[in-house]
Amino acid sequence: MKTYTVGGAVRDRLLGLPVTDRDYVVVGATPDEMLALGYQPVGKDFPVFLHPQTHEEYALARTERKSGHGYKGFKVYAAADVTLEEDLLRRDLTINAMAEDETGALIDPYGGQRDLAGKTFRHVSAAFAEDPVRILRVARFAARFTDFAVAPETSALMRQMVDNGEVDALVPERVWQEVARGLMDAQPSRMFQVLRDCGALARLLPEIDRLFGVPQPPQHHPEIDTGVHVMLVVDWAARRGFSLPVRFAALTHDLGKGATPPERWPQHHDHEAKSAELVRVLCERIRVPADCRDLAVAVAREHGKVHRALELHPGTLVELLERVDAFRRPERFEEFLQACECDFRGRPGYADKPFPALDHLRQALQAAQAIDAAAVARSADPARIREAIFQARSAAVAAWRDRPPAGSP
Ligand code: ATP
Ligand code: MG
Repeated sequence: MKTYTVGGAVRDRLLGLPVTDRDYVVVGATPDEMLALGYQPVGKDFPVFLHPQTHEEYALARTERKSGHGYKGFKVYAAADVTLEEDLLRRDLTINAMAEDETGALIDPYGGQRDLAGKTFRHVSAAFAEDPVRILRVARFAARFTDFAVAPETSALMRQMVDNGEVDALVPERVWQEVARGLMDAQPSRMFQVLRDCGALARLLPEIDRLFGVPQPPQHHPEIDTGVHVMLVVDWAARRGFSLPVRFAALTHDLGKGATPPERWPQHHDHEAKSAELVRVLCERIRVPADCRDLAVAVAREHGKVHRALELHPGTLVELLERVDAFRRPERFEEFLQACECDFRGRPGYADKPFPALDHLRQALQAAQAIDAAAVARSADPARIREAIFQARSAAVAAWRDRPPAGSP
């Protein structure tokens, strides 16, 4: 029996990147031999084991053959006579289909090193078409390895898979899982570009696909195209290293603009409410977790108000702060502001523009927080405590707004 390091760990070492998780392939062993050596079985669909000490994953070399529709329909053959080359052949990309033996020698039967040098995502074999998850993987690798490009023959194959309806069989959880990982990579816009190029974006995330080609007023949006704007916004969020909920909110804040009737272009009056509605639809469909959904809905619904924060009356400011739950969840309010800042900065020429709305809202919150809510509640009519607290907060914000400028007597 022989053990090889495979997949991402080999790729990342050759790229000079830190290797965090390692996957191993074992050739020439049976499940019983693995158990006798103390490995713990974990694979449901194929034989994978955890090392007794390191708990790293060891998979028996296997081949896979498509046996049905969707990504679950695979016949797996794992046995002691499956060779390393056969196992590598079932992998998605040549750069992910290299192995290293215990002495550190590289095994590269499908041109992985060539494609690393040429910065190319190329499928290993025609079997690539058997699993639509691979389209999502290529897309998210594009967001991570930002100077790599998809090989023309792989692009063509991906397009064909979409045309054949293969991506429609993806389970929603898997779509979210891969999209979420791509959002956390260096340049998420590249993931959406790859998905768009092969037609998968229209199938998987039509609400985002629809934004391309929708114009916005040039005085606020020099980039004009809503899709271009949203890509700048999500890349800004990545550049700043913001959390997944912030990146997701950045991606979805303008979904409503895709629903504006063309005769109203480039205006999108009240697109915020429509955005919030479409964010809910999208989140329901691909099972986006609640923390991402809730922030995205809040940002979609309120971002217009945030941009106008300096013009808002104290009561309107307090209503906004209450609606986004800023009093109970100040840390989430910061994430809300981060997403709104991405919306502002994701426009050509806006990187260094002042955006005073953020501090305005932070200070309004501080002023409103400073009231003695317990005392207000005690002295209020019990049926009107909410209203009394709102009035006190609004008065505090008004007093802060009307404060004498710093340094005056
Ligand atoms: P990451 O750095 O994101 O972990 P990775 O390439 O290591 O990237 P994993 O999901 O850890 O990705 O998978 C390990 C290896 O298994 C891949 O490098 C690839 O060889 C293979 N692999 C994983 N998923 C698929 C798939 N859907 N189709 C074909 N091969 C796959
Ligand atoms: Mg990995």
